[in-house]
Amino acid sequence: MRETFYITTPIYYVNDVPHIGHAYTTIACDALARWHRMKGKKVYFLTGTDEHGEKVQKSAARKGMTPRELADQVVTNFQGLTPALSISNTAFIRTTEPRHYASVQELFRKSLGNGDIYLGEYEGWYCVPDEAYWTELQLEGGNCPTCGRAVEKRKEPSYFFRLSKYQDRLLSFYRENPRFIRPESRRNEVVAFVEGGLNDLSVSRTSLTWGIPVPEAPGHVIYVWYDALTNYLTGLGYPSKTEDLATFWPADLHMVGKDILRFHAVYWPAFLMSAGVAPPRGVFAHGWWTVEGQKMSKSLGNVVDPYEMVRKYGADAFRYFLLREVSFGLDGDFSEKELVRRANSELADKLGNLLNRTLGMLGKYFASVVPAPEAEEPADAVLSRCGRETAAAVDAAMEEVAFHKALSAVIEFVTKANEYVQSTEPWTLAKDPSKRERLGTVLYNALEAARIASLLMSPVTPAAAQRMWETLAPGAGTVEGALLGKNGAWGGLQAGITLPKACIVFPKIET
Ligand SMILES: [Zn+2]
Repeated sequence: MRETFYITTPIYYVNDVPHIGHAYTTIACDALARWHRMKGKKVYFLTGTDEHGEKVQKSAARKGMTPRELADQVVTNFQGLTPALSISNTAFIRTTEPRHYASVQELFRKSLGNGDIYLGEYEGWYCVPDEAYWTELQLEGGNCPTCGRAVEKRKEPSYFFRLSKYQDRLLSFYRENPRFIRPESRRNEVVAFVEGGLNDLSVSRTSLTWGIPVPEAPGHVIYVWYDALTNYLTGLGYPSKTEDLATFWPADLHMVGKDILRFHAVYWPAFLMSAGVAPPRGVFAHGWWTVEGQKMSKSLGNVVDPYEMVRKYGADAFRYFLLREVSFGLDGDFSEKELVRRANSELADKLGNLLNRTLGMLGKYFASVVPAPEAEEPADAVLSRCGRETAAAVDAAMEEVAFHKALSAVIEFVTKANEYVQSTEPWTLAKDPSKRERLGTVLYNALEAARIASLLMSPVTPAAAQRMWETLAPGAGTVEGALLGKNGAWGGLQAGITLPKACIVFPKIET
């Protein structure tokens, strides 16, 4: 097993307003980062913002600011997202940082030096008022897709990356690394695209000024994707030979929305191969969200604001819903009603109830002191086996980035633990003094199931898991610092300690 794990979100375009899509990618990465930390790995988790380009330049001009001033102002929209959503990122990168300029220019120089980047001429349909190029396919009725005005054919000198040269190397890379692109269906799309032939890629513009200059080529600015993708190296200190770079590169996983998979699975490995840097180990493309059955759009006014969701329901419920609702990789539909229903019926009623009712009985029958488990009966063995199997199932699901499977396994386990309490009837055992040992064993097992569940839930609902953890494992540190190997074995609950009489794991959401 690899002892390190490097995971990244895409960098978010700073001129956008954060919405459910940004939150989704970041939360998914956070859950994986937390899981791998629990497995004892050294984790590096990078997120950040893409701050160059036309739109920032224009918005800034409209506001009478420099692009950098505007970026400094709006970056907080994204930086604030990480504490709001309980994100445990290691670092936050901005493409306007000087270290990123050095990194992009160094990578560019490498490919320029070996002839993979050459000076040519870019030709496209140009909208003069928008100062933007469009491809034939992007035009709408032959006009600019943004403003609807007429476009003209224009040429400008541009540096090109010799992508065509990498077709075979990319195809054999995909063959040798069958898990590089996930899910499988997306992998097939990418392979078909590359098999169809690759055109060289324009990687600079003279019509743009807000960006990283091409080294020793005044007037040329490095174009969007070349700049943006390189952040994954910059984050670790490239081109300096830092310890982070040696420890964490190649990245284990670039998490992306399906719309930007091609850039990550085709262009990025080719840029790296050309520069003599190892390509990443994996790219996972997730699906999109509709909102209450409709496409999310500004004009419909149904854009989901993650800050508002957290204010209304808390980060745990929002995180839980996003990762529980759909098979990760497929599209899903966001519905507040469904979010509330799932949070209440699964987090409050099942998970919360298991712990809270057992603590109540522990208080009543044992003055809140955890009894030691005695002779094991078949029902106990079934429950502890289920706990072990659930931990293994969650691990397998997290390895295949199937959050929905991991979460449904935990909820199923919690359901079984509640059924265990129901069928062993501690309230009946309590009436018969000769059954006192049996009563103690049953309560111990129910609490132990809750303790295991708190560990397994912690990557997705860190706050609720922490409340359970500090209740059941007082003095054992935070659940974030817990290790599956050390803390995850059945029987880890300490007998003889005194627990509180109640614990509100997850307050019910009122509607
Ligand atoms: Zn236009």
